[in-house]
Amino acid sequence: MTKSIRPAIRAMAGYVPGEQPCDAGYIKLNTNENPYPPSPRVREAIQQAVADGECLRKYPDPSGSEFCRVVAATLGVAADGILLGNGSDDVLTIITRAFVHEGGLVVSPSPSYLLYRTLAEIQGAKFQAVPFNDDWTLPDPWPIPDAQLTLVANPNSPSGTVASVAALTRLAGQLAGPLVVDEAYVDFADGHAMELARLPNVIVTRSFSKSYGLAGLRLGFAVAQPALIAEFFKVKDSYNCDALSLIGGAAALQDQAHFQATRARVRATRARLEAALRGLGFEVCPSQANFVWCRRQAPGVRGIFEQLKAKKILVRHMVYEGYGEGLRISVGTDAEIDRLLEELQKLV
Ligand SMILES: *Cc1c(COP(=O)(O)O)cnc(C)c1O
Repeated sequence: MTKSIRPAIRAMAGYVPGEQPCDAGYIKLNTNENPYPPSPRVREAIQQAVADGECLRKYPDPSGSEFCRVVAATLGVAADGILLGNGSDDVLTIITRAFVHEGGLVVSPSPSYLLYRTLAEIQGAKFQAVPFNDDWTLPDPWPIPDAQLTLVANPNSPSGTVASVAALTRLAGQLAGPLVVDEAYVDFADGHAMELARLPNVIVTRSFSKSYGLAGLRLGFAVAQPALIAEFFKVKDSYNCDALSLIGGAAALQDQAHFQATRARVRATRARLEAALRGLGFEVCPSQANFVWCRRQAPGVRGIFEQLKAKKILVRHMVYEGYGEGLRISVGTDAEIDRLLEELQKLV
């Protein structure tokens, strides 16, 4: 029966997420989860909802309007300009399905989030990578203005670098089609580009997985013109966000003190990690995210990755076509980063 699978699906490799070992003994610095737990209010809200039970019996609100009101109030955006998703990956899937036809073209700067290529391939569309400039700025003028969809992760993964609001505005102005600014990591940065969601062709996406410590809950959203959001609604599953994640997400947003405190801790540890890696001879990108991208010649990063893994420290070894390899290390707790640095000192 696999012969009946669409050729585009059979030909593709599929996205490979970072390892999630079942064994709890690992220091996990490979998938950019927040090292700190979410606000205790999240657990309280979910426990209360489960005890009440009604939200388990009934379908959730298909548009998550209560949660959208909290997003709108917290971020200062219009409630009818929000699309919720089962993680921001779901939002990216909905957007791709809405804009990209079979044989179409999806474009992203490179190296970046590898899922963008997968989304194009599922759609039966072509994917084209535009190399970043050597200093991780965006090529200007942008060489491919006529794609069905252009995606820019900002901060970028794996580099952790950011394109300025001015650069993104210029890019949006040069494109004939829509631009997604994927702000999965933006809460760890100095600024953000949410104001661009007012432009007719820009969609800004956010995630609760990183900065709110809720990767297991699966919640993300997009902000765009209400006319676009209405079209995306036709594409999404009716109940793509479950009741408990909507309740948990709202509680997380309403505890901005917790959010700010964990954000500050991650940023402080990030600065320390960057400096220590430079001291150990790594070439390190200045990061605005909750991870650090580092490279070196000898000893090579693949061996370092494997030796760290043998010591039960997981980082992400990434190889990008046309660019090369490096290590992406998530910012853990101070104790986790101390352990990492202790092992690295022995290895380099
Ligand atoms: C983690 C990540 C996402 C998606 O996160 P969700 O868990 O699906 O919300 C989106 N874009 C980038 C660049 C990411 O790294």
